[in-house]
Amino acid sequence: MARVDVVIIGAGLGGLTAGAILAREGRTVLVIERSNSVGGAASSYKVGDLFVEGSLHATTDPHEAHDPKLQALIRAGVLDAVQWVPAGSLYEVRGGPLPQPFVLPDDLAAARAALLAGFPNAQAGLATLFDELDRLTASPDQAGDEQLSLAQKLDQLFGADEAVKCAVAGNLAYYHDDPATLGWRQFAAAQGSYLRSGARYVQGGSQRLSSALARAIKRAGSEVLIRRVVSAITMDGNGAVSGIVHTARDGSDPQSVDAAQVIGNAAPTALAAMLPEDAGARLIESYAAQPSSISLFALTLGLAKPPREFGVSAYSTQLLPDWMTRLADYAQGTALMAGEPAGRMPPLAIADYAAIESGVPAPPYVLSVVGPDQISNWSAQDADAYRAKRARWQDAIVGYLDAQYPGLAAAVTHSSFNTALSVQQYLNAPQGAVYGFAPLPGSRAERSPRTVLPGLYLASAYAGFGGYSGVVQSAGVCADLVLQPR
Ligand SMILES: Cc1cc2nc3c(=O)[nH]c(=O)nc-3n(C[C@H](O)[C@H](O)[C@H](O)COP(=O)(O)OP(=O)(O)OC[C@H]3O[C@@H](n4cnc5c(N)ncnc54)[C@H](O)[C@@H]3O)c2cc1C
Repeated sequence: MARVDVVIIGAGLGGLTAGAILAREGRTVLVIERSNSVGGAASSYKVGDLFVEGSLHATTDPHEAHDPKLQALIRAGVLDAVQWVPAGSLYEVRGGPLPQPFVLPDDLAAARAALLAGFPNAQAGLATLFDELDRLTASPDQAGDEQLSLAQKLDQLFGADEAVKCAVAGNLAYYHDDPATLGWRQFAAAQGSYLRSGARYVQGGSQRLSSALARAIKRAGSEVLIRRVVSAITMDGNGAVSGIVHTARDGSDPQSVDAAQVIGNAAPTALAAMLPEDAGARLIESYAAQPSSISLFALTLGLAKPPREFGVSAYSTQLLPDWMTRLADYAQGTALMAGEPAGRMPPLAIADYAAIESGVPAPPYVLSVVGPDQISNWSAQDADAYRAKRARWQDAIVGYLDAQYPGLAAAVTHSSFNTALSVQQYLNAPQGAVYGFAPLPGSRAERSPRTVLPGLYLASAYAGFGGYSGVVQSAGVCADLVLQPR
């Protein structure tokens, strides 16, 4: 039987980052990934001639001194293995209660000035907001306001001024779908980090970052296996994790590996199914109070011409539908795809990769259209009905975009549409969750890479905060726990 120091289940961003740090610290690491390639959600690939970015619209600049990713990426040896391309601004937000489009710069001072100029009646609230963002991003661990939701905080600051709320939090789907259940502290840390350090895209696609991490693991003498599925986590007589079994994707060719430490990059529910029944139940029970995060749909369109020719004027646009008169209405968007596209569109986050030095190949010019989604929107259908309904939603979204940006629909030559169901199937992510556990008010303290089972750790969105920054940061914390002398 093979033996390594650490087995990592899954080669998403969390598994790869923890793996690279541990391998470079001299541990023998085996990363096992069931897909054809590494990266999980942090993957980019081709569908015919269409380049598809599996997830990344933006992350924060890791070179900034306070950035949550900085130390982990240095230790993993990949900070400068990729180019972190500036996105130009955090976003342009348009529609909903906003009288006109508003561009939010990705710089604290410039964002403050732009908001003050655009919303002079909200001066007092904006001053308080920016003072707090400045303070909380510089020292994220300070206590206070833990139980406050984003909605409560914005009500305190801005009362019934919904336009300024949408200007400040128009990219809600980067974190959650409902300001009433999104923790103010989690929002402040993440949004403040974008404003402090600037928004970035990984030039050439997120696959480059994932592949660089996999190379770092191999260069340090450890191993990354793809197209192998971890089917069981084994335990010793003392109730500690002792290794894993992995198989080919059809379940054949089982192989056992001994390891005193196992890191789950796969979701805790998926890990529980690999454990002996009792231990799996204990793991599930320990997370019973933590619901899953939202899911996202991602429609990638290939256009014959650059999107700017149809009026798309920013790299990132948050398109709020007209039926949204309050930021709180955002939450209603998540269930819309349960029904037919009968008028109401969800809020959309759009990335125009031709607007920056993205390195994304063109033509076709790639426009990524992302919005909140949930598994129950799709799970009741058979495969044909699912594909047909998805196609009707695609037509409706393209028609809606055409109304905002005349001429765009006729330029669509390619498309690829992933839903919450795709996320669940491709990433083995329960509920199609893309950010781990939901960032509810008061939940910060409950997050840790440590699990209730000795020898089992998490390096994923579930160990901290979802998204690239949260995942990379908590993978660093996970590596530290594994490196501690026992
Ligand atoms: C459409 C979309 C847009 C997004 N946009 C952004 C963005 O702009 N900015 C941002 O910061 N974040 C964004 N995110 C979120 C971000 O991509 C994720 O939070 C992050 O990549 C999750 O990483 P992870 O390592 O936790 O998990 P995952 O990427 O889910 O990786 C888990 C891995 O485990 C593997 N696995 C599961 N079970 C097994 C098994 N039994 N055996 C072997 N392997 C297994 C899976 O195949 C997968 O590769 C987006 C996500 C999506 C889907």
